[in-house]
Order: sequence, then structure tokens, then C-alpha cells
Amino acid sequence: MDSAEFRKRGMQMVEYICNYLESLSNRRVTPSVEPGYLRHLLPSEAPQEPENWDDIMNDVEEKIMPGVTHWQHPRFHAYFPAGNSFPSILGDMLGDGIGCIGFSWAASPACTELETIVLDWLGKAIGLPDHFLALKEGSTGGGVIQTSASECILVTMLAARAQALKRLKSQYPFVEEGHLLSKLIAYCSKEAHSCVEKAAMICFVKLRILEPDDNASLRGKTVAEAMEEDELQGLVPFFVSTTLGTTGSCAFDNLPEIGKQLQKYSYVWLHVDAAYAGNSFICPELKPLLKGIEYADSFNTNPNKWLLTNFDCSTLWVRDRIRLTSALVVDPLYLKHGYSDAAIDYRHWGVPLSRRFRSLKLWFVLRSYGISGLQHYIRHHIKLAKLFEELVLKDNRFEICNEVKLGLVCFRLKGTDKLNEKLLSIINESGKLHMVPASVNERYIIRFCAVAQNAKSEDIEYAWDTIVDFANELLEKEQHDDISEIAISRKKQQDILAQKRSFFVRMVSDPKIYNPAINKAGTPKLSMELVSPVVSRGSAPIIRTQSSVDHNSWISWPLAFLFNSNSIGSSSTNSNSGNPPLRFRHLDTNVRPHSASRRNSGAGSSPSPENEFVTGNISSNLNLIPNNNAQPTSTVHHQKQEQQPHLRKKSHGNEN
Ligand code: PLP
Repeated sequence: MDSAEFRKRGMQMVEYICNYLESLSNRRVTPSVEPGYLRHLLPSEAPQEPENWDDIMNDVEEKIMPGVTHWQHPRFHAYFPAGNSFPSILGDMLGDGIGCIGFSWAASPACTELETIVLDWLGKAIGLPDHFLALKEGSTGGGVIQTSASECILVTMLAARAQALKRLKSQYPFVEEGHLLSKLIAYCSKEAHSCVEKAAMICFVKLRILEPDDNASLRGKTVAEAMEEDELQGLVPFFVSTTLGTTGSCAFDNLPEIGKQLQKYSYVWLHVDAAYAGNSFICPELKPLLKGIEYADSFNTNPNKWLLTNFDCSTLWVRDRIRLTSALVVDPLYLKHGYSDAAIDYRHWGVPLSRRFRSLKLWFVLRSYGISGLQHYIRHHIKLAKLFEELVLKDNRFEICNEVKLGLVCFRLKGTDKLNEKLLSIINESGKLHMVPASVNERYIIRFCAVAQNAKSEDIEYAWDTIVDFANELLEKEQHDDISEIAISRKKQQDILAQKRSFFVRMVSDPKIYNPAINKAGTPKLSMELVSPVVSRGSAPIIRTQSSVDHNSWISWPLAFLFNSNSIGSSSTNSNSGNPPLRFRHLDTNVRPHSASRRNSGAGSSPSPENEFVTGNISSNLNLIPNNNAQPTSTVHHQKQEQQPHLRKKSHGNEN
């Protein structure tokens, strides 16, 4: 393609994108395809010879679009918004055109400097304290764009881990680092995003998952008491991840309380994950939600969720950039340059070396809309959410399950979880609306999020009318059907729905779905002792601590998935058991195909437990016995080895 052709095709592409976005409402919001659909439509090998552009575009419409879930659709109310706007698309296009790789200042000075400036702009607009701003006189902090909130949490945990190990090493110079590592413990709420647990797995540290209060808010006392208990056990608290705007119900941890408690622990890193909600703090009236930020060591929000910026653009600020980068610096000769001391090299601020020119799109967005335009957009979504809440409240068969502060409304039919699961299933299956579930206060709820940029109140009314229609139908059917008939047809329907919907509803990130042990656990017994692990079928080895405080909590062990052999054993021997190991729960809502033929076909985009593991003998292959001084982990380890000695990571390659 030469530049004349690019001009022509570029204009056509812009035309195509405009038509796509303008006519979205004529399409089904979710696709009606099954895993593997595209394999049947595309050749199994790349073309040897160049193909005609028109043919490629025809295939986009005929083969790709039928498998697209339309996140910008006015009937899409699932997850959180996927940021999208014309200025952002054009900014990304320019970045792609420039095509630089900005790993250091010298690799492309504008790429680095614009990122620093734009992050300061946004940080100020959000209301972050000055110490988070790179260009503020005397500040040691600064901002950086990462790919995702998961990555922000990972790198801050890595930094906190490095800082903690350094401190311990100076106290115990003759103790081996691996042993020190086994003492480190991080904390988060049960409502925190599952990426915190993933970060802990990668960092190879223990994570204690704490019970929030009735409003799904983690409290300072809970954190402080857990840390005191753990210190008595010889563990070393080093990281607390709090959430402002949880994924399940957009709840807010009590940051001022937690921050105050952590003042006793100057060496503990306090992170604030505000992936969705953080964007809204650009509105002055919402800034009180950021209270307590002065205690934080780091803060992240995703403009690619709720600030009209396309993925990927997750912004992270740290109080002390040296503490962040010291965990991540490697400095080979070929990356050195003459201004290393005077300039920021963003390669030290994250995992990848190569970096796109992502600040361009955020710069375009901030300039095109202005802060006032973005405030208007956020307020508009909140207004729509409030309208939906009002509509729900008018129908006394339904209830609201969260405090609607931003654009997310959690609701349910008064009745059983099963009834609500069924309601959501039939709505999603219809393709008229798309929503996803979560679990709030031990109950299955339906999440409704204001998502589309230009959504109108009519869209919200349409959504509510659709929900009511399906609810009427369902309730009528429930009343009249014979109980046994319902049971049979429910099972059949579930099986069909499982196959149809699994492809596009696997992404829900609900920690309660992720961790079934949390759902099942009962009231804590009172003692300071660590007890033997709760090992239930389908759950990971998690240590339930007996606590003197009035809450449950769990320690998730970094190698949990490897030793989750009960369910792995059952899934490898019984494909219909329907209980994938804990590790895969977050990919799995209440629907999934169980057919044996699909199990090993490699069809579908998500890893399945059956693909990942086969039986074998891990204990003879790996010597993973941790140091006995780390009581909790060693307890779990020995017990699990005895119980399930037949687990081996699959050595041949069809893991997805
Ligand atoms: N944190 C919160 C509060 C979230 O809601 C999400 C996703 O919705 C994440 C983290 C993970 O975000 P990402 O996909 O950017 O890793």
C-alpha cells in the first residue's frame, strides 16, 4: 500500500467506522456465535500472495462483525465503559503513524515529555496531591501510562516487595532472600479486583483477603487488626491495596481510616485502585470520594474506562518514583544515553521495554473536550444511572443493591439467586441488552452500567422496559409451571445457554465468583491460632485464619492454583463435574460448556482447566517445599501434597 492508496483507504476506513458507530443500534449487542465459529470461516493458513483490500473489508463485515460484542452499543450495559471517542481514535492513529518506541527519553523525547505533562494535567484535574506530580517543585513523584490497572497494581506491588525485602535484608543480612520473601504478606478486601490476587501470585507473596463492612467498604480497623495478628505470627505486612469504586458494586473502601491506621507502618505501601471511579474525580462535587489520598503511595485510574480514551491507557501515579523504579531498573549499555540523569526513562516504570506513544490520545482527548466537556460526560452517565435507579425503585418486585454514586446500578428481582440468574440469562440470550452479574453481600445481583458515550434517557427507558418484559414473562412462567418440569427445562435451558453465552460472558471479574471459598465460608471461630487450611472441592488452598475480630479473612497462597488438586483431579477425570479449579473461576460465570468433545478441541479463546492440566506426579518433579518457618504456607503445602500427589503441569502445548 503506497501513500496514495493509504489516503484512499484511510478515508474509507473513517467512513466505515462512522457508519459502524452510527448504525450500531441495528445490530445485536452480543453475537450469536459459538466457540470456534471463526475457524470455520477463515483459511487455516495466511495467504501466500497479497489479497485485495476490498476482499479483506468484505470479510470484516461478513465474518468478523458477526462475532463482535459491541461495547459501544447503546444496549451494552455490562462491565464498565470501554473508552472511545473520535479524538482518541485519531490520537492513536497519529501515534501509530509516528510509530516510535518510547522506552527512554532519547528514544523519542516528545513521547516521554508529553506523557509526563499529560499525567500532571490529569493528576491535577483529578485532585491528586502535589507530591504525585512530576513537574511540581520539590516533588519526588510522577505519573506514567500503563497498559492496564492490573499492571499498575503489579508494578506497585513489585516496588513494595523490593522495598520490604531491602529493609528486611538490612535487618537480617544473613537470612536468605527467599526466606524473607516467604514472610511478606499483602492485604486487600474481598471486593478488590481479582488482579490483586494475580499480582500476589506473580510476586510470590501471600495475600490476606479481608471482609469489608455491609456497604462493601474495607475498614481501617479490619486492616489494622489483621496486620497485628499477622505480625504476631511472624509475617511481615508490606502492601495494602484499596479500591475506590469496586468492580462488583462500585463501593468505596474507607481510605481515610485505612490511611490513618497505616501511619504506624511507614514501611507498608498503600495503593489505591480507582480504575473506573477515579476518572469521575475530575468533577469537583465528586472529589470527596478521593478523601484519604494524602496517605497513599500510589493511585491508578483508567481513562480507557471512563474518560473517552481508547484502550490502552491506564494511568498510575506514585509518591516516590525512585521507590518504584528501583524495583524495575536494568540498564544495559545499548539503552544508556547521555541524559539518563536529567530525564525520565519510562522503561524503568513498568514491565515492558517498548512503549507506544499513548499520551497522544489522552492529550487529544483532554484538549478536544476540555475538563468541562469531560465533566459533562461523567455527569451525564451519573444522571442516566440515577434515572435507571428511579425506574427500578418504582417497581416493588425489584430492589437496588448498591448505593448509586456513579454510573453503576446493582439491582435484582426480590427472590432467589436462581431467579435472578435466570432473568439475566434470558435477557442476554435475547441479544437485546447485555449486562453481567456480580455477588454483593452474598447475593447474586445484576449490574447495569451507563456505558455508551451518547446514551440518552430513552436508551435507559428502553433497557428498563426490556428488563420488565422479561421479568413479567419469567415470573408468570415460574408461577404456572409444574415444579419438576421447571427443574428439567431449567437444566436443558442452562445447558443450551451455557454453550451459547460462554463465549462472551467469561470476562466478568467478580472476586466472589473467582473465589468460591469466600462465598461458602462460615462465621469465624475466635482464636489467634492459624488453623489447618479449608480445603473444599473446587476451591484453592486458602488458609482461613481464626480471628479475634468480627470478620472472616483468607490468605491466598501464591502457588494456590498448582496445588488445587482436588478440583483438578476431578475435572480431569470427570468432564461434567462443572467445577473448574479456582484459578479459572474468573473466566467462568454461571454458564460454561461441559461437552467432552469441546474439552480438548482447543476451541474457544479462554484457557480451560482441562486444557491446562493433565494428571501426573508433581511432587516427584518439583521440590517446592517452602521453609517451615513460614507456618501458613508450609501447613498448606504438606497437607495438599499428601492429598493429591498426582498433579503435573502439562508439557505439550495447547494451552491458550
Ligand atoms: N480494578 C478495578 C476496580 C476494576 O474494575 C478493574 C476492571 O474492571 C480492574 C482493576 C482491572 O482492570 P484492567 O483490565 O485495566 O486490568
